[in-house]
Parts: sequence; C-alpha cells; structure tokens
Amino acid sequence: MKVDFLLKSASVIDETGTFFKGKNLIINKDEIIDVSSEIKNDYDPATVLDCENFIITPGLVNLHTHSPMTLFRGIAEDVSIEDWFNREIWPYEKNMTEDHAYAGALTAIYEMLSYGVTAFADHYMFPEAIIKAVIETGIRCDLAPTLFGLNVSFQDDVQMTVKLIEKYQHKHEGLSLRFGPHSPYTCTPEQLKQVVDVAKEMDVGIHLHVSETRQQVKDSINQYGLTPFQVVANAGGFEVPAIVAHGLWVAPEDRQLLTPSTTIAVSPKTYMKLAMGAGNIWNESKELPLAIGTDGAASSNTLNPLEQARLYGLMGKWLKEEATGQTLKEIWQMIMKGHEALPFKTGKIQAGWKADLVFWDLTHPTTMPLHNPLAALLYSSGKEQAKHVMIAGRWAKYDGKVKMNLENIKHNMLKATKDLLKKGKGSASIRF
Ligand SMILES: [Zn+2]
Repeated sequence: MKVDFLLKSASVIDETGTFFKGKNLIINKDEIIDVSSEIKNDYDPATVLDCENFIITPGLVNLHTHSPMTLFRGIAEDVSIEDWFNREIWPYEKNMTEDHAYAGALTAIYEMLSYGVTAFADHYMFPEAIIKAVIETGIRCDLAPTLFGLNVSFQDDVQMTVKLIEKYQHKHEGLSLRFGPHSPYTCTPEQLKQVVDVAKEMDVGIHLHVSETRQQVKDSINQYGLTPFQVVANAGGFEVPAIVAHGLWVAPEDRQLLTPSTTIAVSPKTYMKLAMGAGNIWNESKELPLAIGTDGAASSNTLNPLEQARLYGLMGKWLKEEATGQTLKEIWQMIMKGHEALPFKTGKIQAGWKADLVFWDLTHPTTMPLHNPLAALLYSSGKEQAKHVMIAGRWAKYDGKVKMNLENIKHNMLKATKDLLKKGKGSASIRF
C-alpha cells in the first residue's frame, strides 16, 4: 500500500505521559494509520524519516486564547486588573478593525505553531478575520465569537454567530465554531439562557469566562445569590460542551454542576501577572476537568501551553508546600486534555487518529541527559526543541521553520499596531 510517511524508530510520549522507544508510525493523508515496534513490509512510503533523535508527541492544545491580542502584547504592564481591562485593553479594542484582527491572528498562529500548538480554542470579535487566518495556515481552531450581553448589538451578534455556524461548521477540516458569551458578569442570566438554547438547537458548545476573580464570585452572590458557575448551570450551560476559561475561584459546591463535556482551561501566568490570587483550582485539581490555555498575549505575553503547564505544576507544588503533587504526568495530561474538549479526533498516537504531531529534538545539552524525557519536555524545552510540527499529515513547521511568511506577518503586525496607537483609545461600553 502506498502511503505518505514512515516515521522510523521514534520515541513517543503519549497523551498519558508514558514514554515508548522504537515506534514506527505510518502516516497517510491526514491520519496515522499504523503504529508498530517492527517495520512492516505492507507499506510503500513516499517519504521515510529517520526519527531516532526525536520524541514524537500529540500536538499541544491552547484551550483558551484571544488570538488578535498579540497586537497588545506589552501594552498594559504593571497595572491592576481593573485598569488592565477598563483603562487599557477594552478602550483600545474599541477602535479595532477586521484588518487589525487578521494581522494579530496571523501573528498568534505563527507563534503557536512555533511552540508546537496544533489546535487552539479562540474567543474574540472579528470572527471572519480569524477564520481567514485559520484556513490559510491550516492550524486547527475552535472559534467562539465573543458576545457581550451589555452591548446594544447583542441580539444582532447572536444572529451573526448563528449565520457563521451555518456557513462554516463541518465545512473545513480544522475549523469548528461555538457560541462565546463573554461571561456571567457581562451577560444577564436570560441572555446566557438564550445563547445556550440556540447552542442546543444548533448542536454546538459554548466557551465563556467564569469565576476569574474572588470579586466576581462575591458580586454574583450579592446580585443573584448564586456563584457564577451556578448562574451558568441554571442557564443550562453545562448541558452543552463547555469550555470554561479560568474558573480560578471555583467553589467546592460548583464541582457537582460540571458534566463530562465541561473542560476548564487554566492560564496561571495571567493569574500571577494580574495578581488574581491563588484561587481554588490547585486544591481541587484532582476533581476538576482541567486543561491548559494561554489567555491572550496582552495578559500572558506568550502563547505557549508548555510554559503555562510548567507554571501550573510549579505553583501547585509551591502553594501547597508539597513537592510530590502536580506531577509531570498530571500537568502533561492537562495539556492533552484540550484535545478531548475539541471535535477534531486528535491527541492520540494510534491508528485512526489524525496526524497532528510534534517532533521534539531533546538532544541539545540544555535538555540532556534524558533521565526523564517528560521533565526535559515540560521543564526545559522551548520553541527550539519543537523541531517539526505536523497538522493533518502536513508540515506546519519543518526543521525549525514555521511554514508561514514571517516578513509579511511582521510587516502587517507592525502596521496594524501603529494604526491602532494612532487611533488611540475609545470609550468602552462595558466595565470589568
Ligand atoms: Zn480570556
């Protein structure tokens, strides 16, 4: 049988964090069709790649980001979370255009591919600009166009999402959509219920921010007598596949509200930078369906799930004064859990699964010796180690180079940033 690739003699770390040596992977079109310890004669590969020096893993997933916010990287530093939103980010976003968002999204995709991200869950305005960037680059994206309940255009925005889902869902291999109500504090319970009802009708999920800060939980209890998770549950939000961003201040009683199709994306770098407190996720980590997101580049400056997972693990050990907790396998499984939250059939190195893979070169002195390959990967690796990245059987990065036009990306990003600064801040209709 003619096939596209034989990836010969690779080491593999699977989605559980288990390490295997001497695996031969057969890739044909967009799929892994065989994984075996011996080389079989049944296949006639067009390309044979000797992978003895590589550790192959499933692609990394960034389960919560705002891709166009790369344009705001570094624009709001050393400010309180209130000022970050109310005086910096939301006013700047007021003057953003489709072109800005496209330039920002391409920058984000370039960065994510360089780190080994093969799929991301995005939450932002200007969905058509993001979709364009996604389709052009071949990265997988699950997009939730942001819906602010307090905006006068809310009903129109819901209808726009409906139209986008009708237009794009199941039309492109690497693209899926869901509803993106911003949060229970920027949408009323009625608006949340309306969105969830439409999501049910259209058989899609939701993606929203819940219980990010202690104050949000307090305000919600004052206003509704309910935690933000309870508000979402009352709207039926956990009856559809739900990506919950952050959930940092999840309460023990919230846990029972979550369903098997709920995933919480955590972004520890943002929590540290915006001084959001320790929250409860580290105490609840064994019981909660946790995955890794990076949040936008304006709050976490990088879009690297490995770095966020590393911080999650280290903060857990530190906060709980327990060096045996938050093990390497646990934090690796959090990155991999993102695959389960997305509808792409990725995340396993097994026959029948999509060929979304990262080829890690850990032979450099900075990651050697490999006493513990998972430690080398999670604690010592960066984008240089992600040598090749394959999405759906195609190279997205090869030999250290992302397959995108870097000069164009930089040019458009700088042009968009200049234009945004020239326009300055507008007045935002919402408040954090
Ligand atoms: Zn966010």
